[in-house]
Amino acid sequence: MPGGCVFCKIAAGEIPATIVKRGDGMLAFTDLNPQAPTHVLVIPTHHVATLNEAKDAGLLGKLLGFARDLAQEVGIAKRGYRVVVNTNPDGGQTVFHLHLHLLGGRPMSWPPG
Ligand code: AMP
Ligand code: ZN
Repeated sequence: MPGGCVFCKIAAGEIPATIVKRGDGMLAFTDLNPQAPTHVLVIPTHHVATLNEAKDAGLLGKLLGFARDLAQEVGIAKRGYRVVVNTNPDGGQTVFHLHLHLLGGRPMSWPPG
């Protein structure tokens, strides 16, 4: 685990988070600064810095399916939701451990900021 990676620490149980769902090598927890009524982060439990480093297509498929299933479980699937992967500074990434944002519970606007 890279020292100081906050999401590795959450995955290791070293810092608290509100865990929403656990899966095979994956974890979902609520965002500390929610941008929608539902705002959950889905991460691989092992460290991958950004989408650019995520070479394992199987992992990416599992993460996306996990987010899709979670949307169903928390009741936002039918009305709709958004899955976002901010990547590197221009993408707005601030935590350099790969994560999917699952956002829902309100209508989303387009284009994003
Ligand atoms: P990004 O800007 O795409 O890298 O998103 C990082 C997200 O992580 C932001 O939405 C933060 O609110 C969230 N975040 C940062 N630290 C924590 C934490 N300790 N627990 C939960 N969410 C966090
Ligand atoms: Zn990490």
